[in-house]
Amino acid sequence: MVWSRSVGALFDHHIHSDRSDGTVSLADRAKSVAVRPHGVSDHYPWRDKLKDEDDVLRYLDEASRLGLRVGIEYDLGVAPPLSARTREALHYVIGAMHQVQLDDDTWIRYDNAGAFLKGRVKELSDAAKYMDDDLASRIRERTLEVVRVGIERDGIDILGHATMGPLAALGDPERFYPAEWQERLIGLCVKGGIAIEVNEAYGVPHREFLERAKALGATFSVGSDTHFDLKPLDKTAEMIRAASLDEGRFLAGARPVRG
Ligand SMILES: [Zn+2]
Ligand SMILES: [Zn+2]
Repeated sequence: MVWSRSVGALFDHHIHSDRSDGTVSLADRAKSVAVRPHGVSDHYPWRDKLKDEDDVLRYLDEASRLGLRVGIEYDLGVAPPLSARTREALHYVIGAMHQVQLDDDTWIRYDNAGAFLKGRVKELSDAAKYMDDDLASRIRERTLEVVRVGIERDGIDILGHATMGPLAALGDPERFYPAEWQERLIGLCVKGGIAIEVNEAYGVPHREFLERAKALGATFSVGSDTHFDLKPLDKTAEMIRAASLDEGRFLAGARPVRG
């Protein structure tokens, strides 16, 4: 099939190494570039390994000496502001949310939802909580604000696993992410000139979201989000095919050129 062969040629921006929570060394990541084009993009901040921008610049230096394209997965809503100097030095910056702080200062962590979306657990244990319209709405509004700051203040280039979280894990994303909200999130990305990631690990965003993004003129980015060995991008290929995304709209290892 043409699409499954061609998706293998798309650049995979979202790959972890043992510099954050991945299992593979930078040297071994550099070898698998021969299998298909990819970069590395470890979590920032990450405990004692990538705790500040000096660590990020050392990581960039070491990985780029090995011939890798180098980004970070910037933890939106949690990471300290990213300096323009570090941002420019990196080949690209993925911004992604792994938790959200609500207007009453409580935190919603995405670990359970993420494990569910990855198929590692069978049930979302706290699903009932997220059926509450008010809570869902507060999560959605806060998400838009956090993404806006990531674009305007920190200059992220890619929105990683947009919609990953408990609302996606409820199993009906068109209900829990109303079309109007999706269009506002996509609008932020299009206006900011940043790409929307098609994420293999979580299988997000869902088809209708990708179709809306396409219709609104978005650009896209492939992200396997692997922490282990490189695997075929089967889910990604199917997501691209189902939403009829044009491969000419995908990033290729460098940040988008902004007008
Ligand atoms: Zn992530
Ligand atoms: Zn990741």
